[in-house]
Amino acid sequence: MIRIISQPHYDTDVLIVGAGPAGASMGVHLRRLGYTVTLIDAEKFPRDKVCGDFVGPVALKELEGLGIGDQFESANRIDSSAVFLDGKQLIEQRFPAVRDLPAFGKVIPRMELDEKIFIAARKAGARTIEQCRLQHYTVYPTHVDAECKLNNNTHHICAKIIIGADGSNSTVAGILHGKKHPDESRILAVRAYYTNTTGPANRADLYFTENSFPGYYWLFPTGPHTANVGVGMVLETMPPGEKHLKEMLKELIVSDVSLHSRMADAEIIRKIEAWPLSTFDPSLEYVADRVMLIGDAGGLINALNGEGIQYALLSGRWASETIHMAMEAHDLGKQSLSDFRDRLNDAIGYDLALSRTIIQFIRNRKLNPLWIQLLKVIVQRASTDQTYAEIAGGILAGVMPANKVIHPAFITKTLLQAGIHFGMQGMLTLLGGPGSWQSFTSNALRFGLHLSEDLLQNPGAYLKWTGNLGKDMSRLAQYTINDMVSSTNSGKK
Ligand SMILES: Cc1cc2nc3c(=O)[nH]c(=O)nc-3n(C[C@H](O)[C@H](O)[C@H](O)COP(=O)(O)OP(=O)(O)OC[C@H]3O[C@@H](n4cnc5c(N)ncnc54)[C@H](O)[C@@H]3O)c2cc1C
Repeated sequence: MIRIISQPHYDTDVLIVGAGPAGASMGVHLRRLGYTVTLIDAEKFPRDKVCGDFVGPVALKELEGLGIGDQFESANRIDSSAVFLDGKQLIEQRFPAVRDLPAFGKVIPRMELDEKIFIAARKAGARTIEQCRLQHYTVYPTHVDAECKLNNNTHHICAKIIIGADGSNSTVAGILHGKKHPDESRILAVRAYYTNTTGPANRADLYFTENSFPGYYWLFPTGPHTANVGVGMVLETMPPGEKHLKEMLKELIVSDVSLHSRMADAEIIRKIEAWPLSTFDPSLEYVADRVMLIGDAGGLINALNGEGIQYALLSGRWASETIHMAMEAHDLGKQSLSDFRDRLNDAIGYDLALSRTIIQFIRNRKLNPLWIQLLKVIVQRASTDQTYAEIAGGILAGVMPANKVIHPAFITKTLLQAGIHFGMQGMLTLLGGPGSWQSFTSNALRFGLHLSEDLLQNPGAYLKWTGNLGKDMSRLAQYTINDMVSSTNSGKK
């Protein structure tokens, strides 16, 4: 017996939920490939998005590929970054020239960036519906039925496939995974715009203090006298952070001498706003039958530097190429779409997994003194070794793949520097005579006692920390092996 499955009437080939950088860029790529696209967003454009606004070299290249690179000529250009620890500048580093990427980034307020990509999608022929919020969707063998709220009315859109590009609180991802993005992979951040700022307009500043670690704060100039200033913090630290982030930002602007020197007469423009970052979590799927997740909805944020715009744009392009292949094969099932997952894992999986593992280490605030020493070690080496500095700076700027970090030369240099750093401290202690030997030993002892006291008080939290660390490290090992195999294979070709 032959069963005939009737095709529904499709409103669109592809329904993209969310018109931020991920969704709108995907709209452009899919239109170029000839598909009908409906792009819905809960907001009306231009709309703001809480962000640091730093658009790195990879993202700038993607904007060029969308045909809108020249629309950001007047945006503030950033050529270098500086790192400050406890009010002292540790290093200033120019962005390295890498492959065919620009050796600079730009600070582009999201109000402007997102609207320009949104207009590009509309010009490319995507049907755009603003103030339309996805409520729910159901996947059938032949189509997806999406239920949306528009002007207080419920509307249904029938599509061949649905794309979740609806950001870090994604409804599409929540339905696909059956749960919210786990808190242990979330960062909370706040930012505000200020006027009357001073200092170099072409430099992005990153600040750390032992007290605020594992958070960091930033000043990214949007022009000669204006800046985006914010602070981000891992959501689940151990022990939990006590400070409210908005209060923390206000406090840091006054108490951190290096930040204060750029903001002594600064005035806030509008209010401080908060937003979560859903960072990479390798246990979560990006694809299911007739469903894909891109950008923040897929957790494509680098946990170490908070960068997500480049991954939003890259994932929008890669997902559209996978859809093209799947449409040609008349198969939009999970297996057929999994090419997108493999591509993500190959291209950025290792970098995101490494950042996640580092964050898993540093979320233990009891070890802050150790992490701060490690930061100093890396910066000391970078101040005397240009190649090392370019790798470290390049990873922070998001232009250098993090697998450079596991390069034997980088590790050897870091260990050598650590030997010099700690050796010098040991030497100074020895030269200081028996009095300082005692303080050295008692400091180490106190530090050890502190940890074991905490372990006794919070055995559950410690077990969770070590368990998660173990999981992340074994996943990282898998990515490392894959990475080595693929670089050996590409070397053979
Ligand atoms: C404080 C902070 C600082 C950051 N700084 C940087 C930085 O300097 N550089 C960098 O590269 N990255 C930064 N990021 C990360 C960056 O903001 C994100 O990675 C980026 O916005 C991802 O783009 P997206 O298109 O995936 O999601 P979004 O830009 O969040 O877009 C999602 C869209 O979906 C819409 N939407 C949501 N739910 C629905 C629904 N149910 N129905 C319809 N539409 C819906 C929203 O209105 C929104 O327009 C920062 C993030 C934060 C929070």
